[in-house]
Amino acid sequence: MIIEKIKESRFTPEVFDIETFGTAFSDHMLLCWYKDGKWGEPIIKPYGKLDFTPAISVGHYGQGIFEGMKAYKGSNGDVYLFRPEKNFERLNKSAVRLDMPEIPEHIFMDGLKALVDLDRQWVPATHGMSLYLRPVMFATEEAITARSSNEYLFAILTAVAPNYYNKPLSVKIADRYSRAANGGVGFAKAAGNYAGSFYPTHLAREEGYDQVVWTDDATHTFIEEAGTMNVMVRIGDKLITAPTSERILDGVTRDSMLQLATKLGIEVEVRKITVQEVYDAHKSGELKEVFGVGTAVVVNNYVAVGYGDERLELPLLSPEESYGQILKKNLVDLQMGVSEDPFGWRVKVEENLVEA
Ligand SMILES: *Cc1c(COP(=O)(O)O)cnc(C)c1O
Repeated sequence: MIIEKIKESRFTPEVFDIETFGTAFSDHMLLCWYKDGKWGEPIIKPYGKLDFTPAISVGHYGQGIFEGMKAYKGSNGDVYLFRPEKNFERLNKSAVRLDMPEIPEHIFMDGLKALVDLDRQWVPATHGMSLYLRPVMFATEEAITARSSNEYLFAILTAVAPNYYNKPLSVKIADRYSRAANGGVGFAKAAGNYAGSFYPTHLAREEGYDQVVWTDDATHTFIEEAGTMNVMVRIGDKLITAPTSERILDGVTRDSMLQLATKLGIEVEVRKITVQEVYDAHKSGELKEVFGVGTAVVVNNYVAVGYGDERLELPLLSPEESYGQILKKNLVDLQMGVSEDPFGWRVKVEENLVEA
C-alpha cells in the first residue's frame, strides 16, 4: 500500500458541527485501480479530484456499486468499525451481479483500517456521531462500447456523519413504481437502484411525504423496504420485517436489529407483510410503529404512512416505549463501545497501522 500523506490537515473541530450528510470529507481517500485483469497496489492520498473524460463507461452504462459503513470513537478514544466483513461480502456480491471484478479482502480490509487510522481525528467522539465510510467501485474504461468495462476504480471516501435528530418523516406506500424486480439488481447496492428511486420519491414529496415504502413490483401488495432502508413494522408487541430476497437488500442494520431485539426479549417475526394487514392494524389501533433501519440514519420512526389517498397517522411513542428507539439506543451504545459486545461485532482499528 502506498501512503501519501496530506501536507497540512484540513481538520478543525468545526467540521463536527455540520448538519448535512455526506459533504465534509476527511483528509485522505483510498484508491485502487483494476486494469489488465488485475488489481493494482492501493494508494492512500489526499482527498481530491480525479481525471476523467465524458467517455468514462460508468457514466453511460452504470456499472457502479457502493457500500455504507461507519467508524465510531469510544469515550476512551478507541476507534471501532462495525461488522465490516458484512460490507466486504456484500460489495463482492454486488460486484458479481454487475459483472465487475471482486475486490480482494486484504485490499478492502487493510485499506479501510489504514485509512480510518490515518484520519482518526475525523471520527467524532460525541455519542450518536460517527465517520461515515463509503467504499465505491465503478467502471472507468474510456469506451462507450455497450459491454462490461475492462477497467475499474475501487475507492474509499470518508465523511463526517451528523447526529440525526429524529425528524418527523412520513412515507408513501408505492402503488405504481418499483425499486426492484425479480431477477434484477435489487439485492445489490447498485448505483442505478438509487437513480431509479429518485423520481418516485420526488412524486411522493409533492404529495407531502418524505420517502416511499417500496412494495413488490408484481402486485404492490407486500411491504418490502422504505426509502433506502429496510423496513420494520410493529403490530401490537410484535416486530415484523420481510425476509430478504432478490428484491430486498440484506441490510447489516436489519440483521443486527433482529438479533438485538431477540436478545432484549422482543418478539420478532421475519415473514411477508401485506399492505392490507398494515392498513387493518391501523384501523384496529394495533399498528404501533413503522420504521426504516439502515447505517446512515440507524432508525427512522415514521409519523405517518400514506396509502392511496389516506394518510394513516401513527401514535407518538416515547423513546422508552418505541421499539425503534430502544433498538437504536442499544445498537449505538454497542457501536460506540458504551455497552458490552456479546455478538463480537465491534472491530477495533489499531493505531499507527501506517508508517509516517
Ligand atoms: C444500504 C441499503 C439498506 C441498509 O443496509 P445497511 O447495511 O443496514 O446500511 C437497505 N436498503 C437499501 C435499498 C439499501 O441500499
